[in-house]
Amino acid sequence: MRSAESIHPDLETVLITESAIKRRLKQLGAEIKQTYGDEEITVISIINGAILFTADLLRQIDNPVRLDCIRVSSYRNKTQSIGTPQLIHSLTLETAHRHVLLIDDILDTGKTISLVVGLIKKLNPASIKTCVLLDKQGRREVPFTADFVGFQIPDKFVVGYGLDFAERYRNLPCIGVLKPHLQNPPEWA
Ligand code: 5GP
Ligand code: MG
Repeated sequence: MRSAESIHPDLETVLITESAIKRRLKQLGAEIKQTYGDEEITVISIINGAILFTADLLRQIDNPVRLDCIRVSSYRNKTQSIGTPQLIHSLTLETAHRHVLLIDDILDTGKTISLVVGLIKKLNPASIKTCVLLDKQGRREVPFTADFVGFQIPDKFVVGYGLDFAERYRNLPCIGVLKPHLQNPPEWA
């Protein structure tokens, strides 16, 4: 396995390797296929974080798929959650009477996904299910269980494969933890 340092000098550890992500996405695709059969799925991806995960996961699913994206404002200061997420970009696809699969990168306090699920429910979908790449179960503030989960992870701030710190590191091929001195740069404190 490649060392964290050789993937990116700012990484302290690799939590999930690129090949582990690839393997798990194949299984997730099969789980989703099993649930939906041949039904059409309306996928809603929460951008920017879920972009990479959504793109790779959709290529593991051969159902007819419609894709839309939704943006929720960041409510984070450094690596901590500080308030209530706000919806800042709305959907353009019709979701009424459709089977909606909402995709996010990580389920943490549960605030973001609950907000978006609440919004979609008001649009009268045939069904709404949720899929997250990562789940930090121990951090929940709003009770929420996703229907499809890639990996359970411990309470650590992670970056890579779509997840950022101050908009950086989204393009790392793996999920990792930054070196401690880079998680809270002094100029942000
Ligand atoms: P929640 O609303 O569940 O607290 O958080 C969900 C959002 O917070 C995620 O979509 C993601 O943008 C951000 N987030 C939560 N934990 C992490 C983390 O460990 N790393 C990164 N980069 N973002 C996180
Ligand atoms: Mg996000």
